[in-house]
Amino acid sequence: MHINELPYEVLSKILEETAQANIRDGPTYTFGLSHPPLPLQKGVLQRYVRGPVPPEMLRWDATSAIRLVCWRWHEWALGYALKDVYIKRWKGGERWAELSNRRESYRLYELIDKPTGTAVYRDPFASLAHTVKTFTQFPAVAAKIKRMWFHGFYTAETDRMVFESLKNCISLTSVTLPWTTLRHMDAGAWRTLLVGTGCPLQTLELHAVDPTKQQAEDKNNMFDLEPLQSVNFGQLRRLKIFGDTTLMPITDNDLYAIARTATQLEEFHLTCISSITIDGVVAVVKASRKTLRVLEHSPRSQDGFWHPHPGSPSDSEHLCELLRSCPKLETLSISLPSVCADLFSDQNMKFAGDLQVRALHLCGHEHGRSTLEATDALQKTLRQARALIRRRATSVIPRELYIELFFAGCIFEPSYSSVHGDFSWAQLQSGGSWPETVEPSGKGPYGSTGLYEKEEEGPFQRIDEGEFLAGVRRHLLSIST
Ligand SMILES: [Zn+2]
Repeated sequence: MHINELPYEVLSKILEETAQANIRDGPTYTFGLSHPPLPLQKGVLQRYVRGPVPPEMLRWDATSAIRLVCWRWHEWALGYALKDVYIKRWKGGERWAELSNRRESYRLYELIDKPTGTAVYRDPFASLAHTVKTFTQFPAVAAKIKRMWFHGFYTAETDRMVFESLKNCISLTSVTLPWTTLRHMDAGAWRTLLVGTGCPLQTLELHAVDPTKQQAEDKNNMFDLEPLQSVNFGQLRRLKIFGDTTLMPITDNDLYAIARTATQLEEFHLTCISSITIDGVVAVVKASRKTLRVLEHSPRSQDGFWHPHPGSPSDSEHLCELLRSCPKLETLSISLPSVCADLFSDQNMKFAGDLQVRALHLCGHEHGRSTLEATDALQKTLRQARALIRRRATSVIPRELYIELFFAGCIFEPSYSSVHGDFSWAQLQSGGSWPETVEPSGKGPYGSTGLYEKEEEGPFQRIDEGEFLAGVRRHLLSIST
């Protein structure tokens, strides 16, 4: 029997095994040289392994022979190798002239004892330009792509090239784009990307970085075509915005515009971005209230674990109530201006897995003073959280729920009635009589603390929640914020 007469699934499995074996045997790394050779300077250049070859390139290399066999195998190989395509800006000139771009000949280059390190200039945009050319010339190749990433291009010119290359990607469901495409591309181009091709885009990720000084000052990049007002995000299921920038950052106004039509989002992620406040987040949450399953809003900066202020809601809306009223919301990680027991009070809440709330204040106690009433409100919040954890664990389909509340410089873990924080001052003040339950903590002060504007802390300790609240009531501790 001819191999092509096998059922497609079997043939496909055989080819996949072959490709994987080829990946194992082929070069999986790229080389670099230890330092750039300088004129009139003698030094021995060392060859080192610069990094792994990205998976999509490995898949491309591994199927090169398969592509040549017959039309059917060629089609299979394209589908296999081009599921995900990652286009990255080339950084720095390759300084090793002997090293070819053809990875299959790497073994030969390993025989060279003394690399000369001659600099070779490479156009940083070559990969993007090449992609545009290939996709225009061979639309069938572009049609195989399901997911694409673009990384390191954010000028007006490269944004146009990015969209040009996407034109023929009619099977695309997921794309990661530079944030500047929201400024440099018009509504028509966005409409084509979102719904104009074969299948509507489901995942949109916008990635922002700080541009170089030259790019930030270039007048050619400083324009905004304001496409968002007339684009429909109704088909989008997942929106992710990440990274901070100084060049035309994404703001609340952009989110208001997106929220007008983004009514079917299942996932909404905002990370490492400080140009959006809670108002923008709320607008999107409200628009997709009925479908939202995952909400992640951690404006944490990229440099570390410093959290900027989440912003204060401009109207006096109760956000705990809004979040509680999202019928499908399961995964939540959010920075809120304030939190209270209401967040956990709905019997039908679908929360599961890890739930993190970073709050600046307690609802109704925005003055931030450490009063008895505020302490009671905190206690009620923790009890309500515990009740919800129990309810989820004993529901018809039991679900594990782990809640962490970051508030007043401490981490509260209601499941274990634990509070993590730096209590050394209170310990000193009480002459060592308080607290009785102190243990070293595995949490904080860095890492998962999520504290606002706290940069220097002693090591954290763990005490019992009851003892913590008693300490606050005895004024040994403060929950002022
Ligand atoms: Zn509240």
